[in-house]
Amino acid sequence: KPAEIPELPPGVDDQLAGEGIESLYPPQAEAVEAGLTKGESLVASVPTASGKTLIAELAMLSAIQRGGKALYIVPLRALASEKKTEFERWEEYGISVGVSTGNYESSEEWLASRDIIVATSEKVDSLVRNNAGWIDQLSCVVADEVHLVDDRNRGPTLEVTLAKLRRINPGLQVVALSATVGNAGEIADWLDAELVHSEWRPIDLRMGVHFGNAINFDDGSQREVPVDRSQRQTEALVGDTLDEGGSTLVFVNSRRNAESAAKRQGGVVERRLDDDEKAELQDLAEEIRSVSDTETSDDLADCVENGSAFHHAGLASEHRSLVEDAFRDRLLKVICATPTLAAGVNTPSRRVIIRDWRRYDGEFGGMKPLDVLEIHQMCGRAGRPGLDPYGEAVLLSKDADTMDELFERYVWADPEPVRSKLAAEPALRTHLLATISSGFANSREGLLEFLDATLYATQTGDDGRLSTVTDTVLDYLEANDFIEREDETIRATNIGHTVSRLYLDPMSAAEIIDGLRYAEEDRGKDEQSTGESHRERPAAEPEKVETDGFVSASDLVGDETEDETTETEAESDVDETQPPARPTPLGLYHLVSRTPDMYELYLKSGDRETYTEICYEHEAEFLGRMPSEYEDVAFEDWLSALKTAKLLDDWASEVDEDRITERYGVGPGDIRGKVETADWLLGAAEQLAGTLEFSSTIAVREAKKRIEYGVREELLDLAGVRNVGRKRARRLFEAGIESRADLRNTEKGVVLGALRGRRKTTETILENVGREDPSLDGVDEVETETAAVA
Ligand code: ADP
Repeated sequence: KPAEIPELPPGVDDQLAGEGIESLYPPQAEAVEAGLTKGESLVASVPTASGKTLIAELAMLSAIQRGGKALYIVPLRALASEKKTEFERWEEYGISVGVSTGNYESSEEWLASRDIIVATSEKVDSLVRNNAGWIDQLSCVVADEVHLVDDRNRGPTLEVTLAKLRRINPGLQVVALSATVGNAGEIADWLDAELVHSEWRPIDLRMGVHFGNAINFDDGSQREVPVDRSQRQTEALVGDTLDEGGSTLVFVNSRRNAESAAKRQGGVVERRLDDDEKAELQDLAEEIRSVSDTETSDDLADCVENGSAFHHAGLASEHRSLVEDAFRDRLLKVICATPTLAAGVNTPSRRVIIRDWRRYDGEFGGMKPLDVLEIHQMCGRAGRPGLDPYGEAVLLSKDADTMDELFERYVWADPEPVRSKLAAEPALRTHLLATISSGFANSREGLLEFLDATLYATQTGDDGRLSTVTDTVLDYLEANDFIEREDETIRATNIGHTVSRLYLDPMSAAEIIDGLRYAEEDRGKDEQSTGESHRERPAAEPEKVETDGFVSASDLVGDETEDETTETEAESDVDETQPPARPTPLGLYHLVSRTPDMYELYLKSGDRETYTEICYEHEAEFLGRMPSEYEDVAFEDWLSALKTAKLLDDWASEVDEDRITERYGVGPGDIRGKVETADWLLGAAEQLAGTLEFSSTIAVREAKKRIEYGVREELLDLAGVRNVGRKRARRLFEAGIESRADLRNTEKGVVLGALRGRRKTTETILENVGREDPSLDGVDEVETETAAVA
C-alpha cells in the first residue's frame, strides 16, 4: 500500500487513496520491492494502462522527499503539458512542476527552482548542450516509452541523452518505462537497472479478428456481429458495442481516414442517442466551435453533435482534451484516431477496433504492416477497469486467409525486440558534434569511449561498426568546417559550436550555410561562380530594395530588446555602398524547408504540375542550384520543399488559416508546427549568417519575424507588441496606426475604435507599447474613415 512506503512525502498516500488508489498494482509493488523509492534504477516493462505513471511518480516523489530533483522525459511535445497538469496535483504538497517549452537555444535557468521538470528528449538534449545549470542537480530521471529508442528518427536522441545524463551525474536514478518487450533485460543491463517485467493488466484483454459475421477471439470463443449488405464492419461493431452500453476506439492510418470514419460512425451513434445526450453533445459542439473558427473545428463539432469524434496530432490541444474528457465521461461514444498519441493518452474504451493494420511508408515505398508493439499498445486501450468486465481488441479481415495472417502476425505474436538505431549516420552526425562541442570528448578515442556507454554498444558488444561510422561522420564534420583536428585533439569550430547550440542537424546547417553563401556570391554575379547551373538572377533591383524596405527593418531593431547585441552587430554588416544580396522571403523559406530538420509537405496528385509551374516562376529566388526535372527524386524533393515554402509564405502574407488548411490539405495544428519549425530554423539561419558576417543577416531576420508574427512586412513593428497579433495589427494599420510610435501617439479613442471598442484589450495593448497613461477612463470610441469602410 502507498501508506506503507516511508520514503514518500507525507500526505501522498491520502491523495492517492482519494483517487481510488488504495493499493499498488502487482508490477508497482514489485518495483517498490526492487528499491524504486530508495533511489534504485529500474526498467519497468509493463502493458499499456497498467499504471506506469504511478511507478514514475513514486520514484520522483521519494527522490524529492530526499531533497532531490526529478526530470520526466516525454516522447512527444503534445504530451508534455498533459503530464505537467497531471503532476501539478502534487503542488499542494509543496512540490513545484515546470515544463520546458522554450527555444532550443535557451538554457531555461528558471527551471532550476522546480522539483519536477517535464521535457521531450530533444529538449533535454539541447539543455545539456547549452549547459543548463540545473542538469547536474538531477537525482531522478524518468524516461517514458523508452522502447522508442528503437525509433529511427528520434530514438538516438533519447539514447544519447540518457547516456550523457548518467555521465554528468554518476549516482543518477534512472526509471525507464517501457511497453512489454521481450528484451527489456538488455535495456536494464545498459542502464545498470533492476528489471520489472510483467504481463499483468488491471483488466482482462481479449484479442480477436472479425471476419464474416463474427469476431473470433484468441480464447477460441466467438461473438456474432453480423454485417449486413449496406454496412461496413466497423459500423457493425460500433453499433454492437453501443447496444451493450460500451464505447469504441477505432484506429485508422491517416488523419483523413480518421475524419471520414468519424463522420460515418456518427450515423451509427446518432440513432442510439437520447434527448439529454443530444443536448449535451450540442453544448460540447458549441464549445469546440468556439476554440477556433477553422474548418477542422467545424468538422469536429459536426461529428460531435452525433456522438462521435476524430483525434489526431493535427488537432488543437484544446480540442484534443475536450474530446478525451467527453469520451472518458461516456458522452462521446466513438473516437476514430490515428495511433500517434495512442500510447500517451489515457482514454480507455470498452472495445478497440484496429481498422487499418498497414500504413503508407515513404521509405518503404508502399503500405507497410505496423509493428506488433504498436498494435499491442493500441489494443491495450481496451477495457475500463471497474466499468467493463473485460476489454476487447478487434482486428478486421475480409477473408479467411487474412484472418489467419492477422492471428499469426499480431494476436499470437510477441513484440519485436528493441534495437538501438544509434549507428545510423544522421544520428551520429548530430550527436558526435554535440558531444565534441559540449566537451564530453575531444578525441576519437574519447568519442568511442563515450559511445561505449550507449545501448548500441551494450547490444552489439562490438564497436567495429560504430568506429567506422564515427570516422565517416568526423570526416563530414571536418569537411564542413564544424570541427578541427590537430593531432589527436578534436575541437568544435565557432560555427560548429553555434550549430550544436542551435540544435541543428549539421546537415541542415550545411544546407543553410551553402544557400546563404550562394546568395553572397551571387550578387557579384560572374558566370564562373555558378558554373553549369547558371540561371538568371539579377542582383536585387532598386525598387525591390525599396519595397522590401531596410527602413522598416531598422525601425524594428529599435524596439526589440531580447537580442540587441546580435542586432547591432548585424546592422554594422550592411554595406551602404553596394546593393546587398537580398534573398527573398520565399527563397529563404524554401531554403529552410529543404533541410532535414523540416518535415516537408507531401505532394498530392496534381501537385507536381502545379508546383513545377510555380517553381519556374520563382526560379530566380532559390538559394542554391535547382535540380533538373530529370533528377527525379531530387526534383520531387525540391517541389515538396516549395510547397512547404508556399505555405509559409501564405502565412507570412496574412492569408487566413482556414484558407491555408484548405489550400494545402493540412490541419491547423500542422500550420503551427511548420511555422514553429521555420521560426526556429530561420532564427538559426540568422545566427549563422551573423557568425559568418553575411550581408543577408537582416533579410533573414525580417523573413523570420514575418513567420513569427504571420504578417506582411508593413505590420512587423506593430505585430511585435504583446497582445496585438496578426489580425489586430492589420486593423490598427487600416485605421492609420502604422507603428508603435503611432500607437503611443494616436488619440486613444481612435485606437479603441480600430480595436472594435474592446476596452480591456486596448488598455493592455497601450500599456504593452509603453504609453504613459494607458487608461481609457472617459475615452470614447472614435471610428476612423478607414475603419468604418473596413
Ligand atoms: P500506463 O502509463 O501504464 O499506460 P497509466 O499510468 O495511465 O497507465 O494508468 C492507467 C490508469 O490506472 C490511470 O487512470 C491510473 O489512475 C490508474 N491506476 C494506476 N495505478 C493504480 C492503482 N494502483 N490502483 C488503481 N488505479 C490505478
